[in-house]
Amino acid sequence: MDTHTFHQSRKRFEPLEKKCSFCKTGSNKSKMEDNCFYSVYNVGDRLNLIVFRNVKFKEIKIGIPRCES
Ligand SMILES: [Zn+2]
Repeated sequence: MDTHTFHQSRKRFEPLEKKCSFCKTGSNKSKMEDNCFYSVYNVGDRLNLIVFRNVKFKEIKIGIPRCES
């Protein structure tokens, strides 16, 4: 992905985009934790793990850029 960077120990994709995806006017200046992170679980019967870069995860998070307000 070229819009996110994967953070191995936090098991999440952190967005590279700073512009807020919610209000479209604000921007996330510096705080990664202001972003909105959605958990993605693999709930399929056959495959129970998400495989990314040869590492298996039961859950990963995908960040959506979000400003403070
Ligand atoms: Zn916003």
